[in-house]
Amino acid sequence: MRFNTKLLHQNYGPDEKTGASLTPIYQSTSFSHSAEELENIFKGSEYGFTYTRINNPTIEAFERRIASLESGIGAVACSSGMAAITLALLNILKTGDEILSSSGIFGGTYELFKDFENFGITVKFAKDNSVEAFKESITNNTKLIYIETIGNPKLDVHDIKSLSVLAHENKIPLIVDNTVTTPYLIRPIEMGADIVIHSTSKFINGHGNSIGGIIVDSGKFEWDFNKYPMLKEFEKYGQFAYLAKLRKGLFRNIGACMSPFNAYLNNLGLETLGIRMERLCENAYELAVFLKEFDKVLSVNYPGLRESPFHDIEKTVW
Ligand SMILES: *Cc1c(COP(=O)(O)O)cnc(C)c1O
Repeated sequence: MRFNTKLLHQNYGPDEKTGASLTPIYQSTSFSHSAEELENIFKGSEYGFTYTRINNPTIEAFERRIASLESGIGAVACSSGMAAITLALLNILKTGDEILSSSGIFGGTYELFKDFENFGITVKFAKDNSVEAFKESITNNTKLIYIETIGNPKLDVHDIKSLSVLAHENKIPLIVDNTVTTPYLIRPIEMGADIVIHSTSKFINGHGNSIGGIIVDSGKFEWDFNKYPMLKEFEKYGQFAYLAKLRKGLFRNIGACMSPFNAYLNNLGLETLGIRMERLCENAYELAVFLKEFDKVLSVNYPGLRESPFHDIEKTVW
C-alpha cells in the first residue's frame, strides 16, 4: 500500500458498531462492563476500554495508524511531545542511569534533561554527529542513545543505521525523535531504531489545533532484564513488554493522556500528511535556493543543498 493510501486505510476500518467511516469522537471518561468483564480487562485476559486515561477508541485509532506508518508494533499517544519524551525515557531509566544524546536537540528536550539531573539521571552529549563521538561517550551506565532525525533547530542529520548498530553492540536501544521528518520522509524503525517519538503538534496534526505526542515501539529490542530490571515484571508480554510497562505503569499513573477530541483532530489532520509534506519540502528547497543566491544572506543551512555537510548522509544513508 502506498503512503497516501495507508494514511486513509491502513490499520483502521469503519466503526464496528455503526459503520461510521471516520472514527467518531468517544468523548467519554469511562466505559461500562459487567463486573466479570471488568475484572478480566484489568487482569489482561480480555481486551476492552475502561477509562480514557488508559485507553479510548478514538485515541486508539490514532495510535494504530501512527504505529503502522512507523512500522512499529504499537503506540501510546500522550498529551504533548514533551510528555511522550518524558514517558518514553523514564519507562526504562532509574537513578544512576545515563542518557547519551546528540547535542543539537530541541530546546524543550534539553531543558527536560536538566530536570532529570535532579532525579539522578545524567545526560552526556556526543560532541558531534559522528558514530565515533557517540562511541566515545558510552559508559556502563548508558541506558539509551537519544537523537532527532533532523535536529530542531540546528538541522543536523544523523546516520540512524550506524547509530543503531552502535547501540545494539552495547545492548542499549536507539530512541529517535522523528517530529521534524515524520514517517513520510523517514521511518527510523526500518533503519534499525528501537523506539520512535513524535510531537504530533507539528506536521502530524498539521493544522495547529492540538498539542500531542506519541511513542512507537518496534518490538524488536531484546531487553536485558539485568540492565533494565523494571521491565522484568512485564516479561510475559514478550515483544510488547516495553509498551505494556508504559501503559500499565508511568503513562497511566502520571496521567498525561491525549484527549479524545485532540485524537479526532489528529486523525483528521493525518489524512493529508503526504500532500502537505510534499509541498513543505518543495517550498523549503525553493526558499533555500533563493536565499543562497541572495547577497544579503551570509549563509544558508539546509541539508537538501549540495554544499551542506549533511547532504551526503541525507542522500546516501537514508
Ligand atoms: C515541538 C517539539 C517537541 C515538543 O513537543 P510539544 O508537543 O510541543 O510538547 C519535541 N521535539 C521536537 C523535535 C519538537 O519540534
